[in-house]
Amino acid sequence: MSKEKNLENDHDRLLSLINSMADGVIATDESGAIVLYNGAALDVLDVNAIAKGDPIESILKLTNERNDPLSTKEIILGATTQVVSRDYKIKYTDSSIVSIYLSISPVRHGYGKKGEKGFVLIIRDITREKSLEEERDEFISVISHELRTPVAITEGAVGNAQYIAEKTGDIDKIKAALDTAHKQAIYLEDMINDLSTLSRADRGVLEKNIEDINPHEFAEALRDTYIHDAESKGLQLHLDIDPSLELLHSSKLYTQEIMQNYITNAIKYTETGSVTISAKKKELDSRQGVEFAVSDTGIGISKGDQSRVFDKFFRADDYKTREQNGTGLGLHVTRKLAELAHAKVSLESELGEGSTFRIFFPNLK
Ligand code: ADP
Repeated sequence: MSKEKNLENDHDRLLSLINSMADGVIATDESGAIVLYNGAALDVLDVNAIAKGDPIESILKLTNERNDPLSTKEIILGATTQVVSRDYKIKYTDSSIVSIYLSISPVRHGYGKKGEKGFVLIIRDITREKSLEEERDEFISVISHELRTPVAITEGAVGNAQYIAEKTGDIDKIKAALDTAHKQAIYLEDMINDLSTLSRADRGVLEKNIEDINPHEFAEALRDTYIHDAESKGLQLHLDIDPSLELLHSSKLYTQEIMQNYITNAIKYTETGSVTISAKKKELDSRQGVEFAVSDTGIGISKGDQSRVFDKFFRADDYKTREQNGTGLGLHVTRKLAELAHAKVSLESELGEGSTFRIFFPNLK
């Protein structure tokens, strides 16, 4: 085989190797003009074609983490050794922005004229990984912040109880301090339970047995569970169940968890009046099912907050909410469970008047 033929074969092999790579590869000459690229580069840059000789900055528009435009040309031509970054983003022509992994390698026997230098870029879309990382970081910072307060209060209260026991032995004061510590311990337990339900729901590993649920018995059992909590706050707890309701086919575990979240919130955020658990037949998007609702005459939720109450860690800012212990996780867990049960949540509320949280469960068999 002639030398030229050999070279041609090598060249073809190299091209097919580059084209089979999942990462975008672009080679430029030393002035930043594109001399070679693969199919994946078109995908990651979201363009249909690249003309050889195009300046790199015309198709690769780098921005920093705050989306400020950067000089792509300076960044690439300035690389004297291999540079790898996960902090750049690129802006597409439709103005959407993706996070990328970018490796820039200056090469000596480059792609320009014989013997000239050049650069090889490897580009990968890491938007999904980045947003998961950001979410995880935020989660850890919020959790540690949320844990710090109850742990500090518990520590202070127990220390206080010890001090009083040693100094005066005043049993009422010791009991009051221990009550405070006990409340915080319960709060921590609730938070850990919510977190563990959330993480199982996130991984989709919560069991979902579809069972026959009798809405009458189900609602009565809920009333029996919560009547004491309601009455000890001076609230009435009513049931309003459509007598013609038949069996619901859904996950008992999810329906129970969701209704418990709604009812504990209704009792927690209501000072006077009543809480009503209701259920009626409903058809939504041509699916038959049951809609449960929990209404209260409590503090209500402002219009602005209504769209956010199902977000992770969201708690309203007003003092009436902050007077109550809470993690801001209950309704987030509710929404996750509702998705798993193909159920639909909705909310109506008026500040100072009360709230109605609804959930429609379709029959799943
Ligand atoms: P929390 O542990 O704070 O109760 P949730 O996720 O259950 O967390 O609720 C989120 C926020 O939604 C609460 O902090 C509160 O601001 C608001 N909220 C939920 N239910 C009610 C309700 N029945 N009445 C008034 N506000 C409510």
